Amino acid sequence: MNCPACTDHALQPTKLHDGLPAYTCMSCHGVLIDLLTYRHWAETRADDADVVHGEGETASLIEGSAQALLCTKCSHIMTKYSISGSTANKVDLCTTCHDAWLDAGEWQLLGALHLQGKLADIVTEPWQKAVRTQTVETMRDERLRSLFGDDLSRLKDLRDWLAEHPAREQALRFLRSE
Ligand SMILES: [Zn+2]
Ligand SMILES: [Zn+2]
Repeated sequence: MNCPACTDHALQPTKLHDGLPAYTCMSCHGVLIDLLTYRHWAETRADDADVVHGEGETASLIEGSAQALLCTKCSHIMTKYSISGSTANKVDLCTTCHDAWLDAGEWQLLGALHLQGKLADIVTEPWQKAVRTQTVETMRDERLRSLFGDDLSRLKDLRDWLAEHPAREQALRFLRSE
């Protein structure tokens, strides 16, 4: 079985974690994980067992592959799933073979984000929907922060205060009329 990213390198059986076998590409250092095996491992592991190997790797330093990958078992295009709203990295999944591909450093990234036990959740539509919502909210916050700077927290306090206030509508009308 060849690497879906390099295509001309064979994957080597390795162990990502105790009880979690995987296939690693010795050229690009990406890993292929069988989701069925993974699920079994994830169900039996401790919740806070994320292990981050490799020092100093952060989300911004890890570049994921942007191009579409082909599953090397069945040749289908692998589907990309966003990991979280805070990183651009994506998991590639063959929905036929249930093999997940992580680029070099992405397993460690999952560890840093405490998501090593959530891989099976990441490749679901509800997770992707939540990431999209989170991304929209982050963009909105950035836009507001560029307009209001540190006053943004005052604006949010005002919003929260208004939300609870019985005369909210009158207050909004007053603000608009000024
Ligand atoms: Zn490779
Ligand atoms: Zn496949």
